[in-house]
Amino acid sequence: MSKIIHRSLRGTLPFAVSAQGVYLTDREGKQYIDGSGGAAVSCLGHGHPDVLAAMHAQIDKVAYAHTSFFTTDVAEELADTLIAKAPPGIGHVYFVSGGSEAIEAALKMARQYYVETGEPERSIFIARRQSYHGNTLGALAVGGNEWRRKQFAPILIDVGRVSPCYEYRDRRDGETPEQYSQRLGDELEGEIQRIGPRKIIAFIAEPVVGATLGAVTATPGYFKRVRQICDRYGILFIADEVMCGMGRTGSLHAVDQEGVRPDLMAIAKGLGGGYQPIGAVLASSRIVEAFRKGTGMFQHGHTYIGHATACAAALAVQKVFARDKLIEQVQSLGAYLEKRLHETFINSPYVGDLRGRGLFRGVELVADRATKKPFDPALKLHAKVKSEAMNQGLLCYPMGGTIDGVTGDHVLLAPPFICTEAQIDEIVDKLARAIETGT
Ligand code: PLP
Repeated sequence: MSKIIHRSLRGTLPFAVSAQGVYLTDREGKQYIDGSGGAAVSCLGHGHPDVLAAMHAQIDKVAYAHTSFFTTDVAEELADTLIAKAPPGIGHVYFVSGGSEAIEAALKMARQYYVETGEPERSIFIARRQSYHGNTLGALAVGGNEWRRKQFAPILIDVGRVSPCYEYRDRRDGETPEQYSQRLGDELEGEIQRIGPRKIIAFIAEPVVGATLGAVTATPGYFKRVRQICDRYGILFIADEVMCGMGRTGSLHAVDQEGVRPDLMAIAKGLGGGYQPIGAVLASSRIVEAFRKGTGMFQHGHTYIGHATACAAALAVQKVFARDKLIEQVQSLGAYLEKRLHETFINSPYVGDLRGRGLFRGVELVADRATKKPFDPALKLHAKVKSEAMNQGLLCYPMGGTIDGVTGDHVLLAPPFICTEAQIDEIVDKLARAIETGT
């Protein structure tokens, strides 16, 4: 029996022994097409020669140098590259090892900003229900996935809560998408008033919701309203782009399509493309300037921040994006994926909603399309679809169960940007078979 504490302590996992392009192979020689890039990570697929070469070269030079002693060329160049493409106002980057660490760092930066600028009474974050921001304690506290939080709730900080922007289930009959955005803005403003505006540090949200709802995009004007409200009360806006960022939705950052400027932005997953564990916080210049004028530091730090080999991998990913025009490819391939999903599921009695942007797509499964009635959670449909998909040789990312009283099953697709249309066909066909068998 394995000595690893795997995600599930029941059952066994196949052993991955090789991975190339969009396929992984297990020890028995079975091939799986990577329809979800793991968990929206492997944007360049597997075994990309440029990334491997960059990592090898860096390991030969300096694999790791502790950031209390040194900086490195690759970390500086990666920072310059990311800042050149960041939303206006973002001027600095803080490298970490993954998404949860990026969220922890962003929360602490936001808090320190108000301590440095003379508003230490600000101590509360507002976040959305049915969100996921990571599994470390701060990230779990702001996250709104009750299933993940439940047993740890007594040791989590208190957070203000508002509804997610989940049009399929929550927009009312007769309400336009714009009116729905307005109503959600009113709800946020109500929560700010309830807590007390001068007690609030920041509002945090995923621009496109990933791991709890499956590629749920916001309605028009929603994030603009959020930005206005944050500005009105002097509250920071933290965009969690750990899953939806780094080109996944057809622009480098998902907020680029919302026309808003976050104060802090967490990125990870596609940043290193799975070649190395790396995440980052992109921070507005005003925050870092406040630190510089105040204590002269960000009071945080982990052993592996700015890891040279991880930075080399992420820099190579960025160079491949630019050289091979991969963000444009996400747009065209994303449109193809959307078309194929619509064609395939148009008459499916169990597919209630198809949504998402670029190569970040969600399929919501329902027992009744007309009433949107979800499947009984006891059926664990998402788990069945996942194992059926694996039987078919497809890796996809189903999720479900009861989250904040809302029950639903969703499948997330996040294929590598280097897919061909034929591979997209293979993913969609296998998913259709898995859903058919699973339901
Ligand atoms: N934030 C979002 C939006 C995520 O989807 C995730 C992971 O799925 C995280 C944060 C946490 O990232 P990690 O698993 O790398 O710690």
